[in-house]
Amino acid sequence: MYKKILVPIDILEDELSQELIAHIEQIAKVGKPEIHFLTVIPNAELFFGIEFAAIPEKFKDSSERTRLAFVALQEMIKDAKIPDEQIVCNVGVGNAKDEILEYARHIDADLIAIASHRPNVSSYLLGSTASSIVRHAKMSVLVIR
Ligand code: ADP
Repeated sequence: MYKKILVPIDILEDELSQELIAHIEQIAKVGKPEIHFLTVIPNAELFFGIEFAAIPEKFKDSSERTRLAFVALQEMIKDAKIPDEQIVCNVGVGNAKDEILEYARHIDADLIAIASHRPNVSSYLLGSTASSIVRHAKMSVLVIR
């Protein structure tokens, strides 16, 4: 029985995320696991694709983007049929796969549940984030197709 399940959510992919959430609703019924929804936004360097020193001062702080991402994540899961007391929401800043793996270690997750890839990017059966997680995670990974 799972105790802590990490569910990485891409807030730009509403339809895909809703499919993932539908699976999680079922899993969440068994043994009342904590469900951690995590979305990762790029840090300023990744966002602008330039060195940190070259970024205008007012854009260096990512706290406002983090706040907006948190609101978007909550909006995305608001209709999920999962009891509130089982849900934890968080926003990571940086590279998606690194942040997801780090967060999973940090909470000692016993499962990561992830969608396989964006539906419109059909050439790969496993997206880049999903494949890195399957490869590098120490815990079990459930890939939703
Ligand atoms: P693709 O390469 O087709 O974009 P990905 O491997 O990036 O596919 O995405 C598969 C899944 O990885 C997503 O459905 C989501 O669960 C997770 N994921 C991708 N990007 C992020 C992100 N920025 N934050 C949280 N989870 C993400």
